[in-house]
Amino acid sequence: MQYAPVKGMNDILPDEIDRWYRLESAFRRVVSRYRYGEVRTPLLEHTELFVRSIGETTDVVEKEMFTFARPKGESLTMRPEGTAGAARAYLTNKVQSREPLTRWYYLGPMFRAEQPQRGRYRQFHQAGCEVYGDLGPLVDAEMLDMLVTFFHEVGVFDVEVCINSIGGEAARARYRSALTEFLRPRAQELSEHARSRLETNPLRVLDSKDARDRAAVTEAPSILEMLEGEDRQHWEGLLTALDALGTPYLVRPGLVRGLDYYSRTLFELNATSGELGAQNTLCGGGRYDGMVKSLGGPDTPAIGFAMGLERILLAAAAVPAAKTPFCVLAPLGRSAQLTALAVARDLRAAGIAVDLDGRGNSLKSMLRRADALRARLCLVIGDSEVARAVVQVKDLAGHSAAEVALGDLPGRIGELLATTPSPPEGA
Ligand code: ATP
Ligand code: MG
Repeated sequence: MQYAPVKGMNDILPDEIDRWYRLESAFRRVVSRYRYGEVRTPLLEHTELFVRSIGETTDVVEKEMFTFARPKGESLTMRPEGTAGAARAYLTNKVQSREPLTRWYYLGPMFRAEQPQRGRYRQFHQAGCEVYGDLGPLVDAEMLDMLVTFFHEVGVFDVEVCINSIGGEAARARYRSALTEFLRPRAQELSEHARSRLETNPLRVLDSKDARDRAAVTEAPSILEMLEGEDRQHWEGLLTALDALGTPYLVRPGLVRGLDYYSRTLFELNATSGELGAQNTLCGGGRYDGMVKSLGGPDTPAIGFAMGLERILLAAAAVPAAKTPFCVLAPLGRSAQLTALAVARDLRAAGIAVDLDGRGNSLKSMLRRADALRARLCLVIGDSEVARAVVQVKDLAGHSAAEVALGDLPGRIGELLATTPSPPEGA
């Protein structure tokens, strides 16, 4: 019998992993320059943490969580996002008592029971950042500019930065009632789901992907017009800082995003070309000044983002993976195989990647495989080479060969790998 993978959960095989490494290391490299440090939190948290922080009437909590019951009434959930767990870790470890300003990043799998499609999976990977203890708006602008820098470094140039502000509690309350009043007479035009949220969480209607809801909200009032006092100053400060940086952005008053914990600044980075369709949001984030307090901690302003690594890899499809140069070691005959084992070990100890083909195949078939793997060099050892303590080194692109003494091997192969071009694609 064959086991199928769990729906919406994918394997990542070695031939794809180079692109993952490159993306992840670019992320680590960029955020380290801004002095973010990595936090690793558990994949499981108490369900209540997500319900409290993400919000009861959000898609994630209503229908996307993988939740299971443990004895004694305990309920655990596979993390659907990283912000709640990071905030919990920040509190658990009393980080606020050691440092007034904290910058964290994370990288890892998240789990949501959604309908799988291109760019949307049940296990997917996010990289994200959180800053605790800075009210902004300079840090908000700096974060957006860092994201644009990151996307350029990984070869995604067609991103648009969309921003909005949903103000604080008071502004949101004013806006909620204005929006409900606007939508009530249009209730019949809305999707059933939006209609059911009209009274409980009307902001969510703005975030709906249903065409009926999209049409109904085109003329909706703008929350930006309702910002007052410090909310307005914060918003204007963000725009001024982005202008000072020269970071291009689009103001989108309809941008609300799917989680409840946000306040003031909200943003999304979208891919504008490529075939991601409705899954073109590469990154989403915003400010969540009230969350740490609502989880029982001190009043701590915070801002963060998360981006979907699968979607970025789809958007960056044109970027080729760099291949680490390596050689194939092809021994002919029993005694050559035993010599080759030690030769391969010594080469590897010198930092050279070696693919030892010890299956006893013919020279022709080993050379064919070395070509197919796009190895730079193939090292051939037969009985006569063993007797003379040498190997034949074949340059697969240049079609030349040279004899190298075993004693000179690691140094000579290291030089050749550094200078020999890899065979052209498809050669
Ligand atoms: P969407 O509107 O596409 O469902 P979201 O608002 O639910 O996205 P967030 O919770 O803000 O997404 O997550 C941040 C990023 O994580 C998204 O912009 C996206 O790139 C990625 N992401 C979210 N859910 C998935 C998923 N199921 N599969 C792959 N990537 C995802
Ligand atoms: Mg979603």
